[in-house]
Amino acid sequence: MSEIADRAGAVLTIDLDAVVANWRLLAKRMRRGARCAAVVKADAYGLGADRVAPALRAAGCNRFFVATIDEGAALRPLLPGAEIFVLSGPYRHTEGDFVEHGLVPVLNSPEQIDDWAAFARARGSRTPAALHLDTGMSRLGLSHGQAEAVAESTATLAAIQPILVMSHLACADLPEHPLNRRQLAAFTAARALFPGVEGSLAASSGLFLGEEWHADWGRPGAALYGVQPRPDRPNPMAHVVRLEGRIIQVRDVDAGDTVGYGATHRVADRGKLAVVAVGYADGLFRSLSSRWHGFVGGVRVPLVGRVSMDLIIFDVSGLPGETARPGALIELLGPGNTIDEMGMAAATIGYEVLTSLGRRYCRRYLGGPAG
Ligand SMILES: *Cc1c(COP(=O)(O)O)cnc(C)c1O
Repeated sequence: MSEIADRAGAVLTIDLDAVVANWRLLAKRMRRGARCAAVVKADAYGLGADRVAPALRAAGCNRFFVATIDEGAALRPLLPGAEIFVLSGPYRHTEGDFVEHGLVPVLNSPEQIDDWAAFARARGSRTPAALHLDTGMSRLGLSHGQAEAVAESTATLAAIQPILVMSHLACADLPEHPLNRRQLAAFTAARALFPGVEGSLAASSGLFLGEEWHADWGRPGAALYGVQPRPDRPNPMAHVVRLEGRIIQVRDVDAGDTVGYGATHRVADRGKLAVVAVGYADGLFRSLSSRWHGFVGGVRVPLVGRVSMDLIIFDVSGLPGETARPGALIELLGPGNTIDEMGMAAATIGYEVLTSLGRRYCRRYLGGPAG
């Protein structure tokens, strides 16, 4: 069989050295004495946790967060000596999985706390866990009253050893939003219930709010992968992702010809179209129809007409000579057309662009521990 790079409709290049550089940049920016973990849930936001997490581990990261037990179990053998926290916590009867795979649960509710305490009692040992406090997002976590009840329960604390108290910010990408300071105040008050236990509040954007929000551990995900943490400032993060789609066919068109499903685009002048082997089944959202652009040799080429399941069409009339030819690549994501811009154009966010990146792409990794 041919090489995947020759037969795939697109090549996705993931720069592991850029991920590591981004982690180092965030770790260096943190308050003195505070440390930086890495969030690698959802397969490291679609980029491949089996490659991303070991690269970060080799760079000195020793604390990781995933969403599910299975994500944690898959990473365990790849991250010797590192802590792996599971954000969704234990579902009933899964407590043993945490011990079996050396995972630390984030306990999000009184029910998870009771179950974990019962499990620890049955094991006969005080068992470490993180406590999640809700400070204003109304998602996961204990209310202040529920946290007080835990702090006052000697029976619970005899079974559970809290090693981290964490909360999550709802509006960290909006620095002026009053909820940021309210959540910081609520977090500070609730943390005081657990003296001596380390705290963690800020994810990617929260780390840019200021040192007051840094607590003991940063918990960035998106910024590691190049997503802009502060929409109001130039992006300080290095580009991690490059996506190049392959041209299948180049065709001549005349003024008045229509393009794609629904005939939503009409050609203005005689010119050339390139049909590229990427579509919404690969995470190139249909909402990008006539709203995206690629680059070929630095020349911008507009995406015209609807995005189909496996195909998109670019107007390449502006390219010189034979630049656009079958087999050639058009850059669909890169420094000139970023994941954040694609998120905006598709009426979503860079996070969803990343987690939607297609399974059919030929994936290439640059850098990292093995080279
Ligand atoms: C996903 C997640 C993070 C990471 O958030 P980013 O914005 O990607 O940095 C941190 N903490 C929790 C609880 C999360 O769910």
